[in-house]
Amino acid sequence: MTSQRTRDRLVQRLRDAGITNEQVLAVMATTPRHLFIDEALAHHAYEDTPLPIGHGQTISQPYTVARMTELLLADQQRLGRVLEVGTGCGYQSAVLSPFVDQLYSVERIEPLYQRARNRLYDLRYRNVNCSLSDGGWGLPDKGPFDGILVAAAPEVVPETLKQQLADGGRMVIPVGGRKKQRLLMISRDGDEFVTRDLEDALFVPFLAGVQR
Ligand code: SAH
Repeated sequence: MTSQRTRDRLVQRLRDAGITNEQVLAVMATTPRHLFIDEALAHHAYEDTPLPIGHGQTISQPYTVARMTELLLADQQRLGRVLEVGTGCGYQSAVLSPFVDQLYSVERIEPLYQRARNRLYDLRYRNVNCSLSDGGWGLPDKGPFDGILVAAAPEVVPETLKQQLADGGRMVIPVGGRKKQRLLMISRDGDEFVTRDLEDALFVPFLAGVQR
């Protein structure tokens, strides 16, 4: 159920769904998604669906993780400093890890943060730096960032996050309410921000404050 054949089938599904970046597909084939979820759900790990991770949150659907990674990279092989908002179980962080120099991932729910941090450490994702924080503030002392990936949907794009984008940097972010969201890509060119409206999205809401 976690065999290479099962994973290869997932990769074929991702291709069929329109993922084209071969490096991203290769990482999706090797990242052990079953180690990021509860053992009782492990037999669903290589299906293209979100799954519960506790505290009312979900591990993102593999398509979504692959798509956001591909969008963030655009035509680049690698990015320098990247901020991820919404660590969840750490799966998206693991997929991003091989493509970035340093990944800073923030989560607002303490038990999820603790678990993801230990898991990423045990699995030797050493360039992922986790912190417990409200991602709405970004991480001003670690930025500016070449990429920002937001895994929860705010009603409007937080201005603070835009300001932490490096010149030439890109942010991939879902925006909207519980029923209707759109995935946006915001690129910074000096003081200009160009927004591209990409596709429908379905993420958990972006919430303020830290929950212990
Ligand atoms: N990509 C993750 C799934 C993320 S689910 C994975 O692969 O598992 C979205 C996560 O965003 C949830 O864990 C939620 O607690 C977190 N979140 C929501 N609003 C946030 C905020 N303002 N700051 C930090 N984390 C936030």
